[in-house]
Amino acid sequence: MKDVKLDILPLNEWMDVDIRPLIISGPCSAENKEQVLSTAKLLASTGIVNVFRAGMWKPRTRPDTFEGVGEEGLAWMKQVRDDTGMRTCVEVATPRHIEAAIEYGIDILWIGARTTVNPFSVQEIAEALKGYDIAVMVKNPVNPDLSLWLGALERINSAGIKKLVAIHRGFNAYDSAPYRNAPIWEIPIELMRLCSGLPVICDPSHITGNAMLLKGIAQQALDLDMDGLMIESHINPKTALSDKEQQITPKELEKLVASLVIRSNSSTNDEFRNKLEELRFEIDKIDAELIKQLSNRMQVIDRIGHYKKENNVTILQIKRWNNIVKESIELGEKLGLSREFLLKLLRMLHEESIRKQTEIFNK
Ligand code: PEP
Ligand code: MN
Repeated sequence: MKDVKLDILPLNEWMDVDIRPLIISGPCSAENKEQVLSTAKLLASTGIVNVFRAGMWKPRTRPDTFEGVGEEGLAWMKQVRDDTGMRTCVEVATPRHIEAAIEYGIDILWIGARTTVNPFSVQEIAEALKGYDIAVMVKNPVNPDLSLWLGALERINSAGIKKLVAIHRGFNAYDSAPYRNAPIWEIPIELMRLCSGLPVICDPSHITGNAMLLKGIAQQALDLDMDGLMIESHINPKTALSDKEQQITPKELEKLVASLVIRSNSSTNDEFRNKLEELRFEIDKIDAELIKQLSNRMQVIDRIGHYKKENNVTILQIKRWNNIVKESIELGEKLGLSREFLLKLLRMLHEESIRKQTEIFNK
């Protein structure tokens, strides 16, 4: 992947509240003035919510569902800001949405997963943002495509937006159970590696789709050193007009956040640091050994490839592959490795072996 250069401000330079994690909460959708104001009042009284969210324009899968109250709700957000002091954020998908949100003094805009997938929409949004000093959060695209997510961040950043945040909300996957959207943590981790300094927060509501599963995902996000959480909260989730299964009351949000363990990403304890150093040294040695062995394996693959080609034998022999899987999993499980991990690893090895032999066959 080509280098990523983003010109961004650290969170604490534009969020005067220097709290970790950053907590964003509020209903999936603004439904009516009373629902917005009462939810906001309770969330503010917890003292842990930095930013109040609510969707005005809802990107719904089916047209016969609640599609949001539109611009009318922006006035309620303005009142939330005036009454509670919480910052406000809304989802925008078109230049008109941006214009309206800015007119009502919304502090932060977010780009939804269904918009991030479309570079035309993202570019249009980027053009509309030119000249404004507003914060923008970019959700990952619905499909597990890191480049698309990066591309959206780059487009918005190129429009001069330096208050930029990425939101991990999970991905549409063939098998996402038990979640609504598979977390596929490798993707946000790779984003964090490529864009050091980019604030990344997690949206456990849209990952889980289920209030009971929020805590596990929220804790994992914090343990992966993410900067904050966006969790949907509704005054009365049972009556919510969208995403009712995943919303929790402000009181439940308060309890959930209080139950999370907040860990630091470094330690000043010398004994801890020395011990960690020692263990990491061991890991580095093992990794180097693994890589040498992988290279040895590939050299044998190379010989097999030539040999099969000379003898006009197919690359894949499904029985042999089946045996490798069976035997390696048996051995690996005996040695304490998980079946899921072994399968993933073996598939990767096999894929590369096939690629290499195909190259030889096509020469
Ligand atoms: C939302 O935040 O309510 C929303 C529509 O999210 P997403 O874009 O992640 O589906
Ligand atoms: Mn929602």
